[in-house]
Amino acid sequence: MMHLLIVEDERILSGEIRRFLEKEGFVCDEAHTGRIASDKIFSNEYDMILLDLGLPDYEGLDLLRESIRNKGTASVIILSARTAIEDKIKGLDLGADDYLSKPFSMIELKSRILAVTRRKHGLKGNIIHAHGLEVDLDKRKAFFNEHEIQLTKKEYDIFSFLILNKNKVTTRLQISEHIWGDIFEENYNSNYIDVHVKNIRKKLSEFLEGDFLETVRGIGFRFNE
Ligand code: CA
Repeated sequence: MMHLLIVEDERILSGEIRRFLEKEGFVCDEAHTGRIASDKIFSNEYDMILLDLGLPDYEGLDLLRESIRNKGTASVIILSARTAIEDKIKGLDLGADDYLSKPFSMIELKSRILAVTRRKHGLKGNIIHAHGLEVDLDKRKAFFNEHEIQLTKKEYDIFSFLILNKNKVTTRLQISEHIWGDIFEENYNSNYIDVHVKNIRKKLSEFLEGDFLETVRGIGFRFNE
């Protein structure tokens, strides 16, 4: 559901974060140098960037400035061994959303990611409510009156992304990038996403009256509330 970039030159830690988050359902990309991170940030639309300030080839705060200038939509959590309070304040002043000091536990990292996501979408808890539906972002499940709606992983990813962005049009390109982590021409051109959306609609219709998942012709989809 979420496309995330891990900027960390300690490869073991970077790999550990990636494996943990992928198991939790995130789509992850890694950059082990500031230069690669800078390129990736420029050419991808990430939901979130986990940014180590201590990189060998780049001043971490410069990368933060760049990422905020280029891609205003990505949230940024700083990961740093630097305990200097000035760095923390500078990072938050520049627009980082949160700051995590090393060492941290993976559970803590996940809860910070969820907290930043909630804030970004104006949510109070990990559960999104709409039309009697409940989408639990932590458990990655959707319910209607406590009955679980049996969605496949991809269906859940698409549905939760649309409901997080409810009342806004989400393009096929955005869905492709957020779900698959990349823009694959074939996904984008084919009706792959449409087939998933059709299946989601069918499953919702067993519980809900009315179709709230609107196809916006030629553009994408919008969940209306
Ligand atoms: Ca480092």
